[in-house]
Amino acid sequence: MRDHSEWLALAKDLDLPTQHHIDGRAEGGGQGFPVVSPRDGQVITHVADAGAAEIDLAVAAARRAFDSGPWPRLSPADRGRILLRMAELLEQQREQLALTVTLEMGKPITDAHDIELRAAINTFRWYGQLADKLTDESPHTAPDALALVTREPAGVVGAVVPWNFPLTLASWKVAPALAAGCTVVLKPSESSPLSALLLGQLGTEAGLPPGVLNVVNGDGPTAGQALGLHPGVDVLAFTGSTAVGRHFLRYAADSNLKRVWLELGGKSPNIILPDAPDLERAAATAAWGIFFNQGEMCTAPSRLLVHADIAEQVTEAVVRRARELRVGDPLDPATEMGPLVSSAHLDRVLDHVTTGQAEGARLRVGGEHRENFLQPTVFDQVDPGMRLAREEIFGPVLSVLTFTELDDAVQLANNTEYGLAAGVWTSDLSTAHKVARALRAGTVWVNCYEEGDLTVPFGGMKQSGNGRDKSAHALAKYTELKTTWIQL
Ligand code: NAP
Ligand code: MG
Repeated sequence: MRDHSEWLALAKDLDLPTQHHIDGRAEGGGQGFPVVSPRDGQVITHVADAGAAEIDLAVAAARRAFDSGPWPRLSPADRGRILLRMAELLEQQREQLALTVTLEMGKPITDAHDIELRAAINTFRWYGQLADKLTDESPHTAPDALALVTREPAGVVGAVVPWNFPLTLASWKVAPALAAGCTVVLKPSESSPLSALLLGQLGTEAGLPPGVLNVVNGDGPTAGQALGLHPGVDVLAFTGSTAVGRHFLRYAADSNLKRVWLELGGKSPNIILPDAPDLERAAATAAWGIFFNQGEMCTAPSRLLVHADIAEQVTEAVVRRARELRVGDPLDPATEMGPLVSSAHLDRVLDHVTTGQAEGARLRVGGEHRENFLQPTVFDQVDPGMRLAREEIFGPVLSVLTFTELDDAVQLANNTEYGLAAGVWTSDLSTAHKVARALRAGTVWVNCYEEGDLTVPFGGMKQSGNGRDKSAHALAKYTELKTTWIQL
């Protein structure tokens, strides 16, 4: 890992894209919109700003590439080879990409390099390797017929993603969609357009035919809406807030009933029982979980549900970790927490801190900020009805709630409109299985948090969304089932 001064020097002569990537080339100009780094509030560059016309252009390119271009007609092995080449190029450009992510959205460079880039590289590698290992079905029929059940690429995919893991979340959509033979129009968040544009360029460099992967910048209510309403888009894959997820369902209803897949928000519970194998580790993981990536994590374990007998011990350990955490310049490799993504987002998070105090929760640590840098924040004495316990904050703010009976813990855990993830800490095998079964969440972690790899599906129940990213299950989003019945 480079040191602080090396990253600062590299940041000075980083070559940043400024245009859309449409039909295999740079498109669009004009004044565009500024990309502001939350690190210091400075404008890094300006990027072209798409309206409906640029979205039309990108969808038309993706449509041509799907309807008459080579991509869906290539052998799966050939598609796989290009995805593997994308993984190699991501690896080669790892430092520039990590730096771009850190500058645009503020996560610590160590996390950008070691976690975000590793995830993006692994995603392209995994789907590249998977592309030619899929099989279709031929069910047993009567002797006078042959039935085939095949998966066909679903068409043009619109992908709209947020800024908190700009490359990982884009990769989770783009790689399986491309492996399936679809073509893509990706709209990153206006807060993190640069790394996505680099991904678009890198795809063309790896050999994707023109129009297969287009990246268009623009803000949600304009460019995002135009993509959501576009009749030329067959599938819309979205990651973001539950509120905006609802918009995409409406856009589909008001246009062509495109398939809409939603990965949305969360308010995930993390249950610690007195028989946890190691209470210190449980507390350290709870702290890491909520403060990692500045708490800007859909799966953040933002509700710590801890048994009353150990509540003070665990809370004290979490508070200690919060005090030790190094908050600072995200370009310093020793930094553990960087700035929140923007001052507007900081204001939203601070509003939760103020409301929490007004509602009577006890602020144990944090709540203060310098510019966009918020101190890791812990509240205890939180009641289930408080906003602190109900609403997604998407910042480094932990709410501690207590229980005495296991059934109450499960009920408390499920007492939310969300169902993205959950954790439970116990040494008892039966308790672990019973609680895991009872939790309404897409992922349940036992004696760990945020663990996993590409083999397992990821997504939410309830208002945390539908469909799954990662694993072979993700291909269901980007394919349509076809039945062919042949009379013999
Ligand atoms: P967001 O406001 O919902 O934005 C997500 C994307 O939607 C961005 O590209 C945004 O564009 C676009 N958008 C915003 N308003 C739109 C509209 N009216 N029509 C069409 N598109 C629109 O979410 P965020 O604040 O960026 O990200 C935080 C949220 O994402 C949290 O709720 C978090 O839980 C969720 N998330 C979920 C997962 C998961 O896998 N379940 C993973 C990460 C994050 P602009 O930013 O350019 O406006
Ligand atoms: Mg916006």
